[in-house]
Amino acid sequence: MGRYTGAVCRLCRREKEKLFLKGSRCLTEKCALTAKDYPPGKRVRFVRKLSGYGVRLREKQKARRIYGLMEKQFRLYFERAERVKGVTGVKLLELLERRLDNVVFRIGFTTGRAQARQLVGHGHFLVNGKKVDIPSYSVEIGDEIQPREKSRTLGVIKEGLEAGSQREVPAWIEVDESGLKGKVLRFPVRDEMPPIQEQLIVELYSK
Ligand code: SF4
Repeated sequence: MGRYTGAVCRLCRREKEKLFLKGSRCLTEKCALTAKDYPPGKRVRFVRKLSGYGVRLREKQKARRIYGLMEKQFRLYFERAERVKGVTGVKLLELLERRLDNVVFRIGFTTGRAQARQLVGHGHFLVNGKKVDIPSYSVEIGDEIQPREKSRTLGVIKEGLEAGSQREVPAWIEVDESGLKGKVLRFPVRDEMPPIQEQLIVELYSK
């Protein structure tokens, strides 16, 4: 199945919670969930109670949508997390957080992960001084991330920096005074990851 190209707000409405897929708009009154807090499609009078499988599936879909991944990619992350020492669910989220597009978003260079993925893919960012155009690139402790010199004047990056300056940068990343360079100090701990019930995802894939 290809990448979802429809209205992203429908995804939040489907999961009945904010997934923050539209950058700064998500923090305003314009958020679609404010006006339409019901699932997309035909209005249904009775909402069917989800089965145990349904609950686990929805949690996995929520995580997949937050990071903008397709099923196959997401599954590969899970398999990778299983091979790493530690709690599989937490390791899964850690691997997702370490994606370069996510780190670019976390530092505050963009207003959303989708935009970060696009800019990274177009080669606008350097990791330790070298161009990296792979959004799934997994950052390591000590990595320094910054936009390329000529990319700093891009409107989207300026806009992102403006919005990002109002967002809190997680403690595992340090942003220098100019706000134009971020450094990975350590890997994120569970409290610094999105509110996903990772155990439900582990249960879903372990069936
Ligand atoms: Fe989700 Fe953001 Fe759309 Fe609100 S504005 S429904 S949080 S994508």
